[in-house]
Amino acid sequence: MLSDSIENVKGVGEKFALELEDINIYTVHDLLFYFPYRYDVYEIKPLSELIHDDKVTIEGRLVNMPSLTFYGKKKSRLTFTVEVENVAIKAVMFNRAFAKKQLNMHDVVTLTGKWDAHRLQITVSNYKKGPAENHDAIQPMYSLKGNITNIKLKKSITSALKDYGNQIQEILPLSYLTAYKLPTRRDALATMHFPKNRLLLKHARRRFTYEEFLLFQLKMQLLRKLKRESTQGNAQSYDPAMVQNFIQTFPFPLTNAQNRSLGQILSDMKSPYRMNRLLQGDVGSGKTAVAAIALYASITAGKQGALMVPTEILAEQHYQSLKALFGDRAKIVLLTGSVKGKKRREILTAVEAQEADIVVGTHALIQDDVNFCDLGFSIVDEQHRFGVEQRRILRDKGLNPDVLFMTATPIPRTLAITAFGDMDVSVIDEMPSGRKEIETYWTKENTLDRVLHFIEKQVSAGEQAYVICPLIEESDKLDIQNAIDLFHQLEEFYPPTVNVGLMHGRLSADEKEGVMKQFAANEIQVLVSTTVVEVGVNVPNATIMVIYDAERFGLSQLHQLRGRVGRGDKQSYCILIADPKGEVGKERMRIMTETNNGFELSEQDLKLRGPGDFFGKKQSGIPEFKVADMIHDYRALETARNDAQEIIETNMLEENEEFHNLRVLLENDSFFKEKLD
Ligand code: ADP
Ligand code: MG
Repeated sequence: MLSDSIENVKGVGEKFALELEDINIYTVHDLLFYFPYRYDVYEIKPLSELIHDDKVTIEGRLVNMPSLTFYGKKKSRLTFTVEVENVAIKAVMFNRAFAKKQLNMHDVVTLTGKWDAHRLQITVSNYKKGPAENHDAIQPMYSLKGNITNIKLKKSITSALKDYGNQIQEILPLSYLTAYKLPTRRDALATMHFPKNRLLLKHARRRFTYEEFLLFQLKMQLLRKLKRESTQGNAQSYDPAMVQNFIQTFPFPLTNAQNRSLGQILSDMKSPYRMNRLLQGDVGSGKTAVAAIALYASITAGKQGALMVPTEILAEQHYQSLKALFGDRAKIVLLTGSVKGKKRREILTAVEAQEADIVVGTHALIQDDVNFCDLGFSIVDEQHRFGVEQRRILRDKGLNPDVLFMTATPIPRTLAITAFGDMDVSVIDEMPSGRKEIETYWTKENTLDRVLHFIEKQVSAGEQAYVICPLIEESDKLDIQNAIDLFHQLEEFYPPTVNVGLMHGRLSADEKEGVMKQFAANEIQVLVSTTVVEVGVNVPNATIMVIYDAERFGLSQLHQLRGRVGRGDKQSYCILIADPKGEVGKERMRIMTETNNGFELSEQDLKLRGPGDFFGKKQSGIPEFKVADMIHDYRALETARNDAQEIIETNMLEENEEFHNLRVLLENDSFFKEKLD
């Protein structure tokens, strides 16, 4: 059986078996599915087609005896001449003195190495005796450890394939193989290890790419279904007329994307299942408006709502803007860490008695002593800023409230499909009309004076600016000192008519609030700040965002910062001061100047950073695929997602014999046990 221990493979002894454990190979199955991480291609080409400095393979006959010279400590050079297409080619081989004995006059050899077209010389990295046709043109290269060599591994795989190959069962339905022209699992597996040519290899990879994606998508979507069906929610019978009424009071019509997302959220609310939805939208796309309407719907159903945000500044701001939107339709309270004593007790009482309809707050909202009377709907804004545990606590307040997560970090479609496969996702992919594109410029520090004068000019026209100060990695303290220094510098630079303000993380909540209020009231025109203003801050009169050391920020953070301007109807500007050393840094600056679209930008960011890095740390929950590549094979991922959806919706796993093996495989997968706990 494929689950047999690896020692059952011919030629694998106790010792080698132990070594294989180091690369996580325990069973025959593990061995067979240990795929090469790359392939070296040895393909003989005519001399005329060889490119200087390329790695090439040639086949020729020895026309002299190899000569060996030693130099330095234990270093050697072996040189000989081979005749290829009647041309004499010089071959040089370093530190392989032993080869001298193996090479004789008139031997045919196949040499691989770096080609020097000017000297007609090859620096050999790999040689084989005999003509090329005796050697595999495509060599699989496995990642190895310890004493395991490529040759030993290949031998074991050969014998495993011979003795166990016929036990490899197809898991994909035949109709899929036909439709997508994919090789069978067994054939594809053999090809992965022993590719006869590039085309076959391509199809084998295509097969496993699809298989990996389909399995993953099936798991995620089954999980979502299980979660839905196993968690009792509330069917919130909200009042559609009142909701419409509320929307009519807005000073603007909703965009199509807002309407669509709202519809999805409301239909979740009405259903007896528990909402587990992510609302994605670029900064300024109008998520808050949608959230407010959903909160209101919940209130018309007789419930309370909660909105949890990551910072006090944001909490305060949401509190103010919700109050403005709701008027006297709802009682809204603010609960943050700096609300204390009597005030706090009053609020808690109001929440418990349902005198308060909506609670806006930071994580102060999920303290033990916060008890809702009837919490029906929770929203978590900037959800990635909260830990899993905090999100869970909020979800567990009240009786199975519906939960909506919001994020302004546009997640590339590719990642959204994989990382949030177990959530429903709504996307606001359209900006309210009438917004002007923010003009973004990239400049070096030596033009700082011009930048500062530009700010002055805009300020005298009644506008305001943010200056995000230099970032020092890992050092909050130094960042703050930087902000303070810059603040003094700008105070000196500008005439007294320009008020410069200072904002950083060490200010108390009151001080922060004070500064933000002054900025919002245009009593401060230029706000020097650390990145605390990053998320959600809304001062529409601010039109300039200057970011120092922009190369130190990731694309999505730069985009977030840029999103602080361009919030009104005036032309806004983002100025990146950066002198990136590497290509990636330069590329980031270029991308920023070229696009304002968060989704496009996030796709580019993903390409620059790779999926593992995208969410920072290892919290992403993004699976590692053996063969598939989420970015490169995006189309296959989409196909697999759609197929998985169809398979689940039509119940084919249970009802169609073709899907039998796939079902068995999924049923035995430990994935569900782990995830459902
Ligand atoms: P987000 O939370 O997605 O960053 P907000 O909800 O804060 O965006 O909206 C940003 C600004 O756009 C706010 O001033 C809001 O009043 C306004 N806004 C929201 N929706 C619309 C719309 N459909 N048309 C015009 N302006 C809108
Ligand atoms: Mg927002």
